[in-house]
Amino acid sequence: MKLQYLDVSRIPDVHANLRRAFLSKKTLPLSWRKTQIQKIKQCLIENWDTYFEAAKHDLKQTQLIARLEFSQCIEECDYMIKNLYSLAEKQKCPIPPVLFPASGFTIFEPYGVVLVISPWNYPLQLSILPLIGAIAAGNCVLLKPSELSPATSTWILDYMSKYVDKECFQVVLGAVEETSALLKLPWNYIFYTGGGRVGRIIAHAAAEHLTPTTLELGGRNPVILDRGIDLDVSIKRLVLAKFVNCGQTCVAPNHVYVHESMIEEVIETVKNVIVEFYTDDPQKSSDYSRIITKDHLKHLQTFLDPLDPSTIVFGNVVDLDDLYFSPTLVLNPPKDASISQEEIFGPILPFYSYSDLSSLIDTDLQERSLVICAFTNDAALQKRLISETSSGTLSINDALTHVTCRELPFGGVGSSGYGQYYGKYSFETFSHRKSVLHNSQRFQLDLRSPPFTQQKIDWILRLKKLSIPMHWFLSILTFLSVFTYIII
Ligand code: NAD
Repeated sequence: MKLQYLDVSRIPDVHANLRRAFLSKKTLPLSWRKTQIQKIKQCLIENWDTYFEAAKHDLKQTQLIARLEFSQCIEECDYMIKNLYSLAEKQKCPIPPVLFPASGFTIFEPYGVVLVISPWNYPLQLSILPLIGAIAAGNCVLLKPSELSPATSTWILDYMSKYVDKECFQVVLGAVEETSALLKLPWNYIFYTGGGRVGRIIAHAAAEHLTPTTLELGGRNPVILDRGIDLDVSIKRLVLAKFVNCGQTCVAPNHVYVHESMIEEVIETVKNVIVEFYTDDPQKSSDYSRIITKDHLKHLQTFLDPLDPSTIVFGNVVDLDDLYFSPTLVLNPPKDASISQEEIFGPILPFYSYSDLSSLIDTDLQERSLVICAFTNDAALQKRLISETSSGTLSINDALTHVTCRELPFGGVGSSGYGQYYGKYSFETFSHRKSVLHNSQRFQLDLRSPPFTQQKIDWILRLKKLSIPMHWFLSILTFLSVFTYIII
């Protein structure tokens, strides 16, 4: 399927038009933003069938995943529609009494024109969730979905453009050349989701214009299987998290550490659960997806080609024409092999046996991944993982499910990216929090004017430290005045 890419020479005009629309102040009223989000919701609800066809075309997406993507977007719309007014409220801040009678508050203002660049693996939600956040915050948006998921990207272009305000929101299609042209322009915010290599290109381009950026990148998400866990429950959660969408999920487990005493039992249980979930022949299972392109599939094979065949303990069945790669398990591959160094992003799951979990925490688990999953009932270990490791998310006794929790911010740390979104975090991500100090000309404390005697300086420093809300200060003053009046 060939995409209709935007003509590169038109890109500066598209940007200028969005800029003009933003300057017209059309996006500022909350009621207008709410209507736009309602239209996105309406677009989703009215066009499920055509979307599902597109998702099946690109990734042989299963009904469950497509439905989940849909519901994630609809729930985000509902959240913003319900909470927009309270999210946008100004927030009062305490001011030092030395500035009497000033008051202080913060407001959220939109950045302006936002560029959203999204990937192919969950093509709907990774495009629409940032779009909803950016609209809620009052920005104009240019969305550039991935060229590798042509049917869903075209769906987004065709359907979203029919519902949302075209002056303020544009969807454009393109690949490297078009995205590179987009990146030359002075956006007010860039929100990028994808791999770390391109993430660095984005950060570099953004630096040219000092553009604030969110980078939602990938990473090598480790899983720990501790002794004494319920193996059946833990492995079912692990297998689903790894093989859903054929392993092409940024928060999917990348590799698993298992205590050496239970490695054989774990591998056997994983094999059984794979068969239970996807049958002996996952290629025929309606719950098993496909790899996005032949090149991606060939890349996955390069992880296995150099390995000693005895380390590949399950799977490795490939059908290039059908883009099929079976669930594949690898046991203790060498630490210097590419499978042990790079993000796999496919249905290959390596297991490493360990003897000392403590040293694992101090070494391998210090890599800053998008998520660390730990299956353990050991409260002390859980505490250590919370306080001694750093990752976008720590998931204890579960895997992948945190992405469904709107109140948990989603994002990476270190090499897995920076910035967070979902719900109120999206609103804040796409807003600049502006401080406002509001004073009056009616009153001037003598303390503020020279000559600054030692006594004045001491008082200024004392009062500066106080920082109390102005209404408290006024209440105290009123109380003192009334008290003094009564006494006199
Ligand atoms: P991709 O190839 O679709 O690229 C993402 C976007 O970057 C696309 O819109 C693409 O057009 C653009 N792009 C590609 N090359 C470019 C270049 N040279 N210059 C400018 N733009 C360019 O997606 P991908 O990178 O293959 O996605 C997979 C990666 O994304 C994995 O590493 C995965 O872990 C990560 N990911 C992260 C998240 C998250 O939320 N943190 C979500 C999904 C995927």
